[in-house]
Amino acid sequence: MRVYNFNPGPSTLPTEVLEKVQAELLDYQGKGLSVMEMSHRSPEFSDILARAKQNLRDVMKINDNYEILFLQGGASLQFFMLPMNFLSPETKADYIDTGSWASKAVKEARPFGSINVIFSGKNENYSRIPSWNNLPFSDDALYCHITSNNTIYGTQYKDYGNPGGPKLVADMSSDIMTRSFDIEKFSMIYAGAQKNLGPSGVTLVIIRKDFAAKAKSDIPTLLQYKTHIEKDSLYNTPPTFAIYLVMCITEWAVKKGGIDALEKECRVKAGMVYETVDGTDFYIPTASKDSRSLTNITFRLKNEALEKIFIEEAKKEKLIGLKGHRSVGGIRVSNYSAMSLKGIQTLVDFMKDFEKRNT
Ligand SMILES: *Cc1c(COP(=O)(O)O)cnc(C)c1O
Repeated sequence: MRVYNFNPGPSTLPTEVLEKVQAELLDYQGKGLSVMEMSHRSPEFSDILARAKQNLRDVMKINDNYEILFLQGGASLQFFMLPMNFLSPETKADYIDTGSWASKAVKEARPFGSINVIFSGKNENYSRIPSWNNLPFSDDALYCHITSNNTIYGTQYKDYGNPGGPKLVADMSSDIMTRSFDIEKFSMIYAGAQKNLGPSGVTLVIIRKDFAAKAKSDIPTLLQYKTHIEKDSLYNTPPTFAIYLVMCITEWAVKKGGIDALEKECRVKAGMVYETVDGTDFYIPTASKDSRSLTNITFRLKNEALEKIFIEEAKKEKLIGLKGHRSVGGIRVSNYSAMSLKGIQTLVDFMKDFEKRNT
């Protein structure tokens, strides 16, 4: 019996996708072997790679000004690969610090160039996203780095307005493929796959071609974006099985109706949880209302001593992975694309019942 898995990452995957993978495991399309056992240069794998890319383009409306790459090292490797490719001691980038992942990106970028942190929410316990209007963008920044959704603190940009700023580079690890966006606002987007796109082990990079053209060539070959663009993510052996999963999950996303349908469903599910939290003072949301995340919903119990019991009792209802990150505590509901409406309904029913039994 499968549980309702609210883990923040790696996270729940659509059951029908796992069933398809299981059915194809021993004998992929009559070839007599599994995807794991195939050459990454075989026609079968070339087809998987091409379809994964095309599905991502279709679902998220990515036009041909952008390349799609599958890399390794997680989102964390992008924290330094990005500045390593674009910055030098004489050049500058703006960074917005809205949480632990954002501040790690700042830390990793500092050795490569001049890093201008134009907003930090650290002193407010990262409870909000700044307004685009008041940000002191640098005139000469090569990009502005943001974390679109702060997985730990449960905050998320409502839009990518960015008036007057340089084009954005976004870490979208925890909300990619859950909301629509205008790709033209971005020079680059990256995301570890393990939250919304598949299993861990592959990192999606969507990079603008004219931006990539300005990247350096005097750094290690494997760390150059140019290498992976020229070799179509096949410079060395890519994580083939993880890419196959991304193909399957994006195919599922296409069938669901693409980004607009996924966003709509995500909003409905998040709305159900926020409505429950807002309807009482038994639960106390931690993120500022105008900055609330649709994919990571964070709250405390008014009586914090009950949080441990909440988590334990939830498990009995097959609701797992609800413990907040150790740096904020409380409860975190990870509402990624593959979380079912039924899972959210079961959670909300449990929350109401738990409240009744404990007041
Ligand atoms: C999970 C997460 C990361 C870390 O990703 P890895 O793939 O483990 O390196 C980075 N940024 C955000 C926003 C995340 O949610």
